[in-house]
This record gives sequence, structure tokens and C-alpha cells, in this order.
Amino acid sequence: MALTQGTKKKVCYYYDGDVGNYYYGQGHPMKPHRIRMTHNLLLNYGLYRKMEIYRPHKANAEEMTKYHSDDYIKFLRSIRPDNMSEYSKQMQRFNVGEDCPVFDGLFEFCQLSTGGSVAGAVKLNKQQTDIAINWAGGLHHAKKSEASGFCYVNDIVLAILELLKYHQRVLYIDIDIHHGDGVEEAFYTTDRVMTVSFHKYGEYFPGTGDLRIMAKVMETYQPSAVVLQCGADSLSGDRLGCFNLTIKGHAKCVEYIKSFNLPLLMLGGGGYTIRNVARCWTYETAVALDTAIPNELPYNDYFEYFGPDFKLHISPSNMTNQNTNDYLEKIKQRLFENLRMLPHAPGVQAQAIPEDTVQEDSGDEDEDDPDKRISILAHDKRIACDEEFSDSEDEGQGGRRNTTSYKKAKRAKTDEEKDGEEKEVKEEDKGAVEEKMDTKSTKEELKTV
Ligand SMILES: [Zn+2]
Repeated sequence: MALTQGTKKKVCYYYDGDVGNYYYGQGHPMKPHRIRMTHNLLLNYGLYRKMEIYRPHKANAEEMTKYHSDDYIKFLRSIRPDNMSEYSKQMQRFNVGEDCPVFDGLFEFCQLSTGGSVAGAVKLNKQQTDIAINWAGGLHHAKKSEASGFCYVNDIVLAILELLKYHQRVLYIDIDIHHGDGVEEAFYTTDRVMTVSFHKYGEYFPGTGDLRIMAKVMETYQPSAVVLQCGADSLSGDRLGCFNLTIKGHAKCVEYIKSFNLPLLMLGGGGYTIRNVARCWTYETAVALDTAIPNELPYNDYFEYFGPDFKLHISPSNMTNQNTNDYLEKIKQRLFENLRMLPHAPGVQAQAIPEDTVQEDSGDEDEDDPDKRISILAHDKRIACDEEFSDSEDEGQGGRRNTTSYKKAKRAKTDEEKDGEEKEVKEEDKGAVEEKMDTKSTKEELKTV
């Protein structure tokens, strides 16, 4: 299929305007609001003109139990802040309560995050795009029957299962500062998925610019699709992470992986200094689109978050790089050894292709038709609770603090600005591509992993 001309790729992007409204709770570092900030920033850079934007369906329990256990998903559907006391035993069993709190709309949040990743995988399977992006996805710690590390439903595992319906071998790469343990665990016993996680203790990709490891992985494993988790907590100055990557360094991974010209699913993940998350994922969207964007940030709804410099790129700190060349060389040699011992491009027996995952309307009473391309800015106009805009809350070093002094950074838009945006969107919508969602149900269980 000749979607690709030169390096220009077709990109489909998944976003739901509600996703920024979910709130893990006061003092919790995970802020879905960062996804809305990213979206707003990339809109104001004009990137929406170059890609198709879709509102994801809400993945249902049936889709989620392709990996997760029935009782765990049933629990996630049932638990609410007002009925928590009835579930204390299950909360313990499923590790929900502390790092992974119960919050309003928790299950819906999981549905949107998962819906975008699975829909992106289906789009890639149908060869209707080169790259699919879901910044609300990438929740790599979730286990089959357990929440972990701010993650409840593992959208990545579910998206990879979808890709495996059409692809013999899928490569998963993870550049979050944390180990992609949930994804690794899910595919530990199959050679149809290779997981490569660059994380704290041993991370050196792409910090040193040595990309030969990934070249070797590609050569040995020969995947036909790649999933890239772009966790942004590996950036310099992250509230939880302690790496020193610049946005350009982080995005080098995207650039490099993209250069292999394989179907690519790009997902979010960690990232707790949310102004930098928005910067990073905006820039990486531009990289996916092969579009240069200026370092000077355009005016956007969250402009004041980006002060004092109002620039796209960040500078690394002066921390010492403790990854000595000697140490990196040793790790590299060990990795090459390991790769040599793996079978070259393991095959899989031919089998019937299961149907594409359900993408039906969730019964959401929303006035919007979910089969339609999202009207880009309409959703961002909803008013969220003030806590959503509390970037300054506690972004210092060393985990959470229960600070109550939120800075209300949201600035009301002038009518002029709103009018301008609406006009722009309407023009865009004329050429909008509508997505026909597949509503067939999956009859066959995937038995390959
Ligand atoms: Zn992380």
C-alpha cells in the first residue's frame, strides 16, 4: 500500500474532549488534564490540519476482558467514591485505593484511554494509516487482575492483541522512565511480541545517541508493526522522574523508530511536569507529521503554564551523566549476546483472522455522534473544575505533597478568540473524514498469546 511518499506519513490521532476532566484527586501527580493541554497546544500550532482527528469509542468490558480478568473489570465498572466502603476487600485484592485511587468516572477514563489505543490498532490493521497516536494511552503498569502505578486497564496490551490479528510479530518499545512491566508480563511467554523497555537503571537510549541496539532488534526480530510508549517522565525536570532528557532527545526515539517505515502506534504514558508533557507530545506529534514547528509557543488556552520563557523546547539540567561509556558499552555487548541467542524472526502458524474489535457506541447520551470526526475545539470549551488547572500544586522534587493552595491558572478566553477558533474549526470540518465504526462483535477469542 502506497500511503508513504518519502518520509511523509499519514497520521490518525485519537482524542476525546472529556478526557481532561477526569481527576485522580488532590495531590495526585497523574493529571489527565495534560492530555487536554497537549491537544490544545498542537491545535494552536495548526497540526490538526495535517492529520485526521478521531474521537475514540469507549472500549467496553468485553473488549477489556480480552486480557483482563472478568472479576477485575466488573469491579472497575462498579466501584465509585460513594460506594467504596462496600468494596474494601476487593480494593485490596485489586490494588485500588492509594497510588491507584477511586475517582469519579474512573471506568469511563479507562474506556477512553483503551478505546483510542485499540481503535488506532484497528486503523493500522486496515492499512488506513501509517501512524496512529493516542496520548491518553500508554498505561503500561496495569496487570491482568490488578491496578498498578496509576494504571488500571492496560490499553497497550489490548492494542497489541488487536495488532496480532494481522501481524506475526509486534515490537513494543517503552521510553517511560519506569519499566513497562505490565506489557512485558502479558507477553512473557510468546515470541510474537518483543518488549524493549528503556528505563531507570540501564537507560541509555537515546541519551548517548547510540541507536545500534534498536537496529539490531529490528534486524533480528523483523517486526511488522511497532508500538511506541512515549512516557514523558523521562524528561529533564519531571516531578517524579529523575532523567535528564530534552524533548529533542526524547523525540529522537520517535524519529528513529519512524524511520523503519513500519505501521506505528504511538502512545502516551507517564509524565508529571505537565507543561513539559504537553510540550513533548506536541513536538512528537509534529515529528510524526514531518512538520517543523517554531520554538516560540503559539497562544493557547494554557499559555501561562509555559512561562517564563514560553518556548517549546527545554534545557537539560547540569546533573552528571552517570552512564559512563564503559558501562554503556558493557550493557550493549550483553544485549547483543542476548539477541544472538534469540531465534531469528520467529514465525507463527497460519490461522483464521479474528474479527476486528467491537467499536460500537457506548450508549453515551452525549449529543455528539461518536461516528463522526470530532469537531475539534468544541469539547475543549467545557468548563472543568478548578483543581484541573493546578499544575503548580506540587511539582517539586520527591513525590506527593498534600498542598491545598491551588493556583488557578485558567484564563477566560475573550469572545474574539473563541470566534476565531470556531471559524477555523468549521472550515476544517468541511473536509472532515468520517470514520465508519465497525460494530460487529468479536466472536472468536484470540488464542495466540
Ligand atoms: Zn513512568
